[in-house]
Amino acid sequence: MDFEIVIGFEVHTELKTNSKVWCGCSTAFGAPPNTNVCPVCLGMPGSLPVLNGKAFDLSLKTALAMNCKIPDVASFDRKNYYYPDLPKNYQISQNDRFIGTDGWIDVGQPDGTVKRIGIDNIHLEEDAGKNIHPEGRAVDYSLVDLNRAGTPLLEIVTRPDLRSREEAAAFMNAMRTLLQYLDVSDCKMQEGSLRFELNMSLRKPGSTEYGQKVEVKNLNSMSVVLKCIDAEYERQADILEEGGRVAQETRLWDEARSETRSMRSKETANDYRYFPDPDLVDYTITAEKQAEISKDLPELPLARRQRFMDEFELSPYDAGVLTSHIATANYFERAVASHRNPKGICNWIMSEVLAWLNKQPEDTTIDDFPVSAENLAGLVALIDKETITGKIAKQVFPLMVETGKEASVLVEEKGLKPLDDSSLEPIVDEVLAEMSKVAEDLKGGKEKAMGALMGGVMRKTKGKANPAVVTPMIRKKLGLE
Ligand code: ZN
Ligand code: MN
Repeated sequence: MDFEIVIGFEVHTELKTNSKVWCGCSTAFGAPPNTNVCPVCLGMPGSLPVLNGKAFDLSLKTALAMNCKIPDVASFDRKNYYYPDLPKNYQISQNDRFIGTDGWIDVGQPDGTVKRIGIDNIHLEEDAGKNIHPEGRAVDYSLVDLNRAGTPLLEIVTRPDLRSREEAAAFMNAMRTLLQYLDVSDCKMQEGSLRFELNMSLRKPGSTEYGQKVEVKNLNSMSVVLKCIDAEYERQADILEEGGRVAQETRLWDEARSETRSMRSKETANDYRYFPDPDLVDYTITAEKQAEISKDLPELPLARRQRFMDEFELSPYDAGVLTSHIATANYFERAVASHRNPKGICNWIMSEVLAWLNKQPEDTTIDDFPVSAENLAGLVALIDKETITGKIAKQVFPLMVETGKEASVLVEEKGLKPLDDSSLEPIVDEVLAEMSKVAEDLKGGKEKAMGALMGGVMRKTKGKANPAVVTPMIRKKLGLE
């Protein structure tokens, strides 16, 4: 039997602030364990939290960009649970007066349409520390690093509006893209600054009621989330087909076995004993504050995509790919500013540059690409000025990646300039002699023969002949002008 997949996400993203959300400790990644800590983030009795205004503003910016209703007053609550990486034994979070509710984001789908995904709420909380479990036979302890404890964490809770793994993939990409455009998080999944937790259930097609959802944690990349959707489909479908009931629980992704396993039966809100944090005051959000932050919202991905289509006459697909990462979109615009051939530059980015990017680790961006936007534009300009052929450009490009040098410099250095007329002539004569039968065909009106002759010239010159020069030269020599 086939089932319909119902998916929602809880997205956690660490906000880009220099200091933590309730204290002044640094949020830098990779510091020696337990060096970025103080009495507040260590949960020492008597220490008092003070809200980081920047973290609040970034949260508000995200809520506004995701079309949320903004309350007049936001407040913070204690979410109580016991775990070694949570020194206070509660997480300061929001359970009632969230920073934003009832929003949505538009997600471009693979078939070119746009699907609107509901946002239930957006709330600001703090990240926990990290438990480290050293390996080895004699090891009977774990370690706790509290550097991350108290890092501002924004949680975005969607409605269960996604219906397939493809939609889930498009959603995750759109979410990351939007957060990057907003510049609220560095979105590095490998470092845990962007995490997707999956809520998934199955139901019979046509059914309007939701099945029992299962929450899955420990998904540290988008490809793992997609693998997990497949594995959960199998698991839940097997249970339902046998007439069983899916249990309400939180499950953990087990990468080694490519399946989920039960972590704990799901807590209800009651288990967390939420109550307002008496150490923190209510936070008033004035109309002025909202206006000030709205004013600073950048051009958002779908708007930029539309502009790329209008302004540069790119296809929806090309514009979609170029705007799917803010760094790629900026790179493209810098290149076009330096040499106005949007289509030509787009083609190079879509093929060669993205091919390079796809071979890099997941969090690599075009900013890490060794060829600057200006230098890529320089290469396209050389082709457009017919200083080099497209064929030569394909040889120059890997050298640019390797050395970071300008195309024109490499063309000089490697002697890749196209041959001038006087050095081309004897080669064309040779080809016409060697391929005399083909030359006769051309004379007889078989225009396709020109391609074969051109191929002969290109072989002899290793691609350094300009077709725009060779074609009339051949015609003239055969008396076809
Ligand atoms: Zn601290
Ligand atoms: Mn959370």
